[in-house]
Amino acid sequence: MAPPIIMAIIMAMTREERNKQRSDWHKKNRDKNLESMRKYYHATSKKQSEQAKKRNELLKKEVHAQYGSVCKCCGISETIFLTVDHIEGGGNKHRTIVGSGTRFYVWLKKNGWPKGFQILCFNCNFAKHIKGFCPHNSTVGQKV
Ligand SMILES: [Zn+2]
Ligand SMILES: [Zn+2]
Repeated sequence: MAPPIIMAIIMAMTREERNKQRSDWHKKNRDKNLESMRKYYHATSKKQSEQAKKRNELLKKEVHAQYGSVCKCCGISETIFLTVDHIEGGGNKHRTIVGSGTRFYVWLKKNGWPKGFQILCFNCNFAKHIKGFCPHNSTVGQKV
């Protein structure tokens, strides 16, 4: 039988060792948990962004159903080129209030598709904002 002091040291050592083992296990487990959390997060965020994309596309379709699906100026119908234009201008100011892109579409829908908006392609819209009219045509052109 070892003197009590030695016993105490042995016990202390084993406790420490046990603790070390436990913390190693925890560490390993934590890494594993982190990894699975990362995977889970990645999978859900991907799924969520896909859902958001689908929602946005649907919303965009609604917008085009309301305001037209071709550029009012040049008649281009590629949805990807189209944007909603504020007929009387002031788009930028308005966008800073309600937001741009999807948030702007949501705003339109919430407000019951208000008048004063039309569909233009980015080219015509850009020209209108820079020059005040689109060089494409002069009939609608003066005030696209
Ligand atoms: Zn156009
Ligand atoms: Zn144009």
